[in-house]
Amino acid sequence: MATNYGPANNRDSKEAATTPTGVPTSPGIPEHLVTRPCAGGLVVPWITPVTSTGLYLFGKISHLAQVQCLLRRLCQVCGRRLATPAVLFARSNDLANGCTAEPALCVPCAAYSARACPMLSGRRAHYRAGEHPALAGIPVSIDQALRQGSPAGSWFAVWIRDYDVIPHPAEPDTLAASWQRILPLRIQPLTATA
Ligand SMILES: [Zn+2]
Repeated sequence: MATNYGPANNRDSKEAATTPTGVPTSPGIPEHLVTRPCAGGLVVPWITPVTSTGLYLFGKISHLAQVQCLLRRLCQVCGRRLATPAVLFARSNDLANGCTAEPALCVPCAAYSARACPMLSGRRAHYRAGEHPALAGIPVSIDQALRQGSPAGSWFAVWIRDYDVIPHPAEPDTLAASWQRILPLRIQPLTATA
């Protein structure tokens, strides 16, 4: 099945800025995200907290925002209600658990994040210690502390019709989006194809 990632399916996006070598420096921003604030050329996700001084805390996520996204079926990047299908970004251990604490994304936001996020697009081989890997705003998961400074694992796009909200099996106080009961439409390796 054809992927929704990549420029061919990005007709609504603005042109990305490029360096003299043609390497994109700022991924094209989808039309539905142009009203979102930007930092460093990247869209600030709806779920990203901001300090009173206007500093966006990439890599941080409030418990409330995570719960709001999961329970209200909101896209973590644009904040809109999720449609079908939607995408959960997952790592190998998430696949083993059949769930992730990171809220879902709508398809256009998932396509943008797959291009814009250094980790998801495979442009960074290691997680940075002390900050979240996903500048595009994939929020911190409960195991982030374990991943900091460690080799980046493979990412997968889990295409879902819906999900159940369950206590995370490794951290029962944290809610997670589960695809154990509602089987995903497909699970697609992300980093290898980016
Ligand atoms: Zn979205």
